[in-house]
Amino acid sequence: MKSLDQDAEKEGAESEEQAYVSSPSASVSPDAPSITVTGRDANDASTCRNRSRSRGNPAKEDINFTVKQFTDRALHSNISGENVKRQEYERTLHIRGSDKVLQGRPEANGNNVNNPRSKMNQDTLDNGVKLPRKKKPVTVDTSKAKTSLEALKISIKQLKWKEFPMGRRTACDIYWHGVSFHDNENIVSGQVNKFPGMVEMLRKINMSRAVRTMQELFPEEYDFYPRSWILPQEYQQFTAQICMVKENDATANHTFIVKPDGGSQGDGIYLIRDPSDLKLVAGSQAKQGVVQEYIHKPLLIDKLKFDIRLYVLIKSLEPLEIYIAKEGLTRFCTEPYQEPSQKNLSHVFMHLTNYSLNVHSGNFVHSDSQSTGSKRTLSSVLYRLAAKGVDIKKVWSDIIALVIKTVIAVVPELKVYYQAEIPPGKPGPTCFQILGFDILLMKNLKPILLEVNSNPSMRIEHEQEVAAGVFEYVPSPVDEEVKVNVIRDTLRLMDPSRKNQSIVLPRPGAEPSEEIPTEADLKASSTEEALPSLCLKQVYPKYTKQFNYLRLVERIAALFIRFLGVKGNMRLGPTAFRTFIRSCKLTNSSFSMASVDILYIDITRRWAGTMADSREAGMGLQAFVEAFFSLAARRFKSLGQRQQVLALLEQCEAQNLWEERRSVSCSRTLSGGNRTHVAPLSPAPLRRPPYNQWLSCASQLLKPISGE
Ligand code: ADP
Repeated sequence: MKSLDQDAEKEGAESEEQAYVSSPSASVSPDAPSITVTGRDANDASTCRNRSRSRGNPAKEDINFTVKQFTDRALHSNISGENVKRQEYERTLHIRGSDKVLQGRPEANGNNVNNPRSKMNQDTLDNGVKLPRKKKPVTVDTSKAKTSLEALKISIKQLKWKEFPMGRRTACDIYWHGVSFHDNENIVSGQVNKFPGMVEMLRKINMSRAVRTMQELFPEEYDFYPRSWILPQEYQQFTAQICMVKENDATANHTFIVKPDGGSQGDGIYLIRDPSDLKLVAGSQAKQGVVQEYIHKPLLIDKLKFDIRLYVLIKSLEPLEIYIAKEGLTRFCTEPYQEPSQKNLSHVFMHLTNYSLNVHSGNFVHSDSQSTGSKRTLSSVLYRLAAKGVDIKKVWSDIIALVIKTVIAVVPELKVYYQAEIPPGKPGPTCFQILGFDILLMKNLKPILLEVNSNPSMRIEHEQEVAAGVFEYVPSPVDEEVKVNVIRDTLRLMDPSRKNQSIVLPRPGAEPSEEIPTEADLKASSTEEALPSLCLKQVYPKYTKQFNYLRLVERIAALFIRFLGVKGNMRLGPTAFRTFIRSCKLTNSSFSMASVDILYIDITRRWAGTMADSREAGMGLQAFVEAFFSLAARRFKSLGQRQQVLALLEQCEAQNLWEERRSVSCSRTLSGGNRTHVAPLSPAPLRRPPYNQWLSCASQLLKPISGE
């Protein structure tokens, strides 16, 4: 696998202007010096770097640069009369088309799209000399961007795209939402930076459940997630298991971390050493959350615990496309670490790495340097480890594997949300999303997944006490360095003019170490050429060969979606479940339809009790997966669990093959308004038509169950 050091960029000495606007080379080299060069200043080798810093006094330069940018941004965001001038501006831009020669010759109605004469005007001068056609700038609605607004504005400016800070009456190419898919209602085209259901999916309980399902099937592959119990449902199991451990080993003194389900920024988190210390009720309500094994031997730097914030882009669900930012952040505790003891359990500055908590410690160090302070770049930490002889290539490839496996765990349910939100036939946008992975390195360098944030902070400023009791937001160079690049390069990847380019597939037999052409090779426009190479690295489908076998639950989800029937539905009713059983031919003399109904009732009842906000009746995907596992165990008793599931899947897929074939032929008759790409590498062995078309056909073919 190509390592981080190979991807690191050389720091250029150009001015900001050169780096972002005019320099085609931007001094980006894929063959940057190896980061194993001991003793080199980490600042010199950070990836995804602004090339605006001079070498003289980096810290000072950082501040000047940022303050200037903030002033620019303030000016930019305060354009008065934006709404009033919007239409006129758009028309002018349109009329200008390709060259100022055309300025004095606008078409009367300002709309020259279908007029051959005006088309000629766009492309040629009067003397017939051909001019290059100017690309229309990509339009971005930033009206709901919230705290990511500053970083987004800078990114749009760098790309020379067009921002609509108050929204736009006509459609934009991209909508940037600060919180969720639903921030703007009624988007029918373009691309939104959030997937429906991502917030729900990544809450602590759902996330733990999704990973746990994968742990059942692939225990070794998913050993990067601490053992977790869902509260309050699994309180009994939790206490029973801990008692058993203690009985077997009286010296065992495990620590557990308790996290509220919807919590963030360390809110409501506490450590316990005994199940009896669990605070199970809040007021009259049982507290929903998880209790998790506490990783008590983290890797320390400067005696401090730290965690990694890694930015991951899910560019598409179908086909699955995952990118990882080569640069991330590390967040440090502010009190030297000691292994948990009854005395220090409540020391949050020792055990919790959250920035939002530690920033309130007197020991928090705001630093303009990327390699010191309480928030540093990931590359500066990796350099430091490399200098100590750590094999950081291995660490990095373990991190990539963790990310891919985690995404594979959550994708099945995301697909269910997606088809419910944007059912086939309903106009809607495509989606992409930047996720924030929180990863802890253990002392033995094994990465552990703490959580995934659906809405990672993209703030590039932090609160600082500028005078006694007076707080102000001031620029944070480390945040800006990392986050602006992530947003800008996400936008570059989502550039609609790239949409028609086929995605890069791995060469047959490609090994992880082989470099496959990335989006950097797809440079399309002059603005692109002036930008540094992408800081986002494609890891899927690049490593399909290594990870595709894990996508079993996705195949179960495909069956589930097929039998859902009603548009917008997320749960399977009893009749649909029976139809599934019947069409997969799962009944026999010892498993009657009556047993099917009992199984359905049993599982849905149990799951209904575990879902705090279950408004819809019926069987959700996770319950269906449980039913599927149980059917597999019943049918293929002699096999191990994974083989059982595989065998049942193959049987169900084979039984439904005729329907697949019908849906393929059906999809050929459908028009091309597809919101998703053609799936080149379905996790299922069966080739499917484009996702939406497939769903559309599946629901048409399953009309009998649609009335449910
Ligand atoms: P939140 O969403 O509230 O930030 P996290 O799951 O990220 O919740 O946990 C907060 C912090 O607690 C993490 O940043 C990490 O420092 C620490 N932490 C969380 N889980 C564990 C664990 N299993 N072992 C050790 N430390 C943990």
